[in-house]
Amino acid sequence: MARVKADKYTQFVSQGFGKELAKKLGLPQPAILRRFDPTQPLISGPVLVIGSSAGADDLAHALLDWQLDVRRVATPKQKLGAIILVLDELADPTELSEPIRTAGASLRDLSPNARLVTISRPATADQEPAMAAARNGVDGILRSLAKELRAGATGNGIVLADGVRTVAPSALGALRFFLSGRSAFVDGQFLTVSTDAGEAPADWARPLEGKVAVVTGAARGIGAAIARTLARDGARLIVVDVPPAGDHLAAVANQVAGTALQLDITREDAGEKILAHAKERYGRIDIVVHNAGITRDKLLANMDQGRWDSVIAVNIAAQLRINRALLASPVFTAERPHIVSVASISGIAGNRGQTNYAASKAGVIGMVRSTAGLLAPLNGTINAVAPGFIETDMTAKIPFATREVARRLNSLQQGGQPEDVAETIAFLASDVAGGITGNVLRVCGQNLVGQ
Ligand code: NAD
Repeated sequence: MARVKADKYTQFVSQGFGKELAKKLGLPQPAILRRFDPTQPLISGPVLVIGSSAGADDLAHALLDWQLDVRRVATPKQKLGAIILVLDELADPTELSEPIRTAGASLRDLSPNARLVTISRPATADQEPAMAAARNGVDGILRSLAKELRAGATGNGIVLADGVRTVAPSALGALRFFLSGRSAFVDGQFLTVSTDAGEAPADWARPLEGKVAVVTGAARGIGAAIARTLARDGARLIVVDVPPAGDHLAAVANQVAGTALQLDITREDAGEKILAHAKERYGRIDIVVHNAGITRDKLLANMDQGRWDSVIAVNIAAQLRINRALLASPVFTAERPHIVSVASISGIAGNRGQTNYAASKAGVIGMVRSTAGLLAPLNGTINAVAPGFIETDMTAKIPFATREVARRLNSLQQGGQPEDVAETIAFLASDVAGGITGNVLRVCGQNLVGQ
């Protein structure tokens, strides 16, 4: 797979004269992020597992199977590849002090592009106030720490529902995702593992081996990257886009050795068309990625009906209609179906000029949470991925100055690449993520917009 390029500014300030100049002028110095490369180790350098619970011991033991150099105590001044903070038995906020200060003492030893991962339990309204305070405290710690990390290092958290073990398949799957270069642009975020479901792949380099995946809006941008990434991970692809994008779609289908389906997803019978194509060519569908989306920005005072209705039609109404058809068909429901929907941080935080788009993307999030309940009896999952600023044709249309500011407004001080969104989707679409459903995972470099 082609190496992902950083933007020109990031390349300029990452070495030599540019680096010196940026330092002198106090300009942002984004790092070249470590992205997934199957020929490279999962993480380089020792992994420090902090925590005294049985769950911490179990996890440290399980990580030895990944050929990691696992440490339970730090060696001063020795560089670390990752810190894993296991906080699965908190009952009171005072218990945070020791593990967090232990982690703090090692932060300066983190290598560039290192990882910090917390493992904790959810705070809920029915808990003792002290326990809920301690558990929710982890949220504040992780989000702050992610902002303190430097040189491409990221911090993310795994929240394990009560009863789910630290070594549950999806807990390990999420940990592996966060440690690896696949999560390069995911920062300051939490994934919730709600059950012990999920199954590790026979080969971690081909986690989607033999799966049949549908990707909408795959002729270009993020959709094309999703198709390439799912294919690299072993999936067979059906790529979908509107007829006018047919040539580009055919090129993507060729690249991934998949089949192209020219289809406007807003058609009443779009779901049936997808099912019929899949049944004829592959006999089934395992994964559906709802990626196709459009923007028609205007302040609401100037918004015409066409702009409003088209965005709702493509971005959410089509997904709802297609899902209804999918869930009614054994072509999709027979075996562990997975759906991943592309939302946006605009659907979380709102954005000026985007009431229509934000309504559709917040709608995707609502739809995903509700559909999780429908997929659970089928051992299926549905999750949303909410990209921040991603370098695509969509964002290339933003005027230069606005674009330059927008792409720096996150902890990693750069825009993400389509591949970053694609890697996250590939993880959520895999069987190891079977215990993760109804989540919204931001791929935004911890954008300052929203949470
Ligand atoms: P893009 O415009 O480059 O690509 C979108 C693709 O969807 C196009 O190929 C288009 O032809 C296709 N499409 C549009 N309407 C369709 C329809 N009715 N039927 C079938 N296909 C249709 O956009 P992108 O930047 O790659 O965005 C992909 C997704 O990511 C969208 O859902 C978008 O809202 C979301 N997103 C993008 C960003 C970003 O920064 N680029 C940020 C947040 C969310």
